[in-house]
Order: sequence, then C-alpha cells, then structure tokens
Amino acid sequence: MAKIFCIANQKGGVGKTTTTVNLAAGLAKVGQRVLLVDLDPQGNATMGSGIDKRQLELSVYDVLLESASIAEAAIKPEKCGYDVLSANRELAGAEVELVQLAHRDQRLRHALAAVDNQYDFVLIDCPPSLSMLTLNGLCAAHGVIVPMQCEYFALEGLTDLVNTIKQVHANLNKDLKIIGLLRVMFDPRITLQMQVSDQLKAHFGDKVFDTVIPRNVRLAEAPSYGLPGVVFDASAKGSQAYVEFARELVRRAPTL
Ligand code: ADP
Ligand code: MG
Repeated sequence: MAKIFCIANQKGGVGKTTTTVNLAAGLAKVGQRVLLVDLDPQGNATMGSGIDKRQLELSVYDVLLESASIAEAAIKPEKCGYDVLSANRELAGAEVELVQLAHRDQRLRHALAAVDNQYDFVLIDCPPSLSMLTLNGLCAAHGVIVPMQCEYFALEGLTDLVNTIKQVHANLNKDLKIIGLLRVMFDPRITLQMQVSDQLKAHFGDKVFDTVIPRNVRLAEAPSYGLPGVVFDASAKGSQAYVEFARELVRRAPTL
C-alpha cells in the first residue's frame, strides 16, 4: 500500500515544490517507487521534473474529470527516477468544472486507489490556497508534510493550516494528520531562525523532522535545468539533506 502525503502550506514560496521534487528524487534514490502528483496549475513540479507543461497530452486535469486514469496520464521523466502526474494552467479550470460534479473532493482519492500497489510513496504538490484542488489532495492523503521557513510569522501561518487539517480530518478524511514539519531554507547563522526552530520543537515536539534543509543555491538553480537538485547535483549540501530526509521518512513510514 502506498503512503500518500500532501506537501502543503498556505503560504507561497515556502519550498513546497522544491521539497516535493527533491523528496521524490531522494525516495527514488533509496529504492522507493514514487508517484509525484502536481496539483498546482502553475506546473512548477512538472517543469522541475523535466516535463514541458505546454505539451501535455494528458494531465491530472483529465484524471480529476475522470476522462483518463493515472496509469494513462502518468509520465516517466528520463532522469528523475519517479513518475509524474503533471499539471498546467488547464487545471485552474478544473476548479470550476468540479463544482458541479458529485464527489468532487474525492476524485483524486478514487483515482489513486487504482495504482495503490504500484507505488511506495505518492507525493502531492499542493497550490498555496485552500481550493477544491488542495481539498482533493487532503482527501486523498494519509498525512501532510509542511515545509516551513523559520521566520517570524511562521508559527502564525501554521495555525491556519492546522485548523484546515483538523476540519478535513473531522468531516472528510479520518486518516488525515500532520506527518511532520520540515525546516527548509535554513541558515543556522541567523539567530532568529535558531530561535524559531527552538520554538517549533517546543510546540510540536517530534512532529518536527530531525532533518533540516539548508538554504542552498544549487536547489534553486536545478529547476532551470528541468531537474530536481538531488539529480542535478547530488553532492550539493541541499541535495544531500533531501536524500537524508527521504531516509528519515522511510524509517518513520511504518509508524505513520
Ligand atoms: P512553493 O512551492 O512553496 O511556492 P518553491 O519550492 O517554489 O516554493 O520555492 C520558492 C523559491 O525558493 C524558489 O525559487 C526555490 O528555488 C527557492 N528555494 C526553495 N528551497 C530552497 C533552498 N533550500 N535553498 C535555496 N533556495 C530554495
Ligand atoms: Mg509550488
């Protein structure tokens, strides 16, 4: 059975997509079968996996509207080691079209059920909002991985996300929980970041992952080559951290 995780945070630019593609590549590197689902109409995870979002024959849009299965729509990028259910701007339209349909928040969950034994991990890159798309992700998942920067308003933003997850848990998906908080773009030389990191651990205890992802320019450069940092430059500190994070997740997975 696949472990299905949403990578979510209602803030934009906090490292969701970077975490999704690099965790996918890291998990593949340590021998796991991975499907990445791009649920963001911006298609950054699609492009960051080397797939041209302007030339998709089938995408997650077709899957949500039940005109294609995941087996039909998933793509295997050459160098990444994982499969991708890709996205582009068309997906923004699904939001409107889904409103009229039955079980509109359960579409992704149903589609994933058909490929459950083909993957060890499914990682869903969510858009930075609580839309019908994000809701499809949250209804399909066993849990949420929350990437966050250790900045002044970080804890405040978390309250909204925690409340959303509680509501979905209560009303739509009893499995859903927070898997963990991942500290990203971390710079230990910045005192404030160390302080916020300590606060996070005090508040959330072992829900804070041990692995910390440093700020690392190679991770930011990699998408322009259509590769996750882990594939683009395996020796970079940021890439090594994401592979370490993949190992931590595999270690923890039996208890999740
Ligand atoms: P989101 O998906 O939450 O909007 P992204 O993953 O696209 O966030 O990251 C936002 C920006 O920060 C991107 O330009 C990305 O390359 C950069 N970035 C993300 N993580 C790191 C990191 N650890 N070190 C340096 N830059 C990073
Ligand atoms: Mg993103």
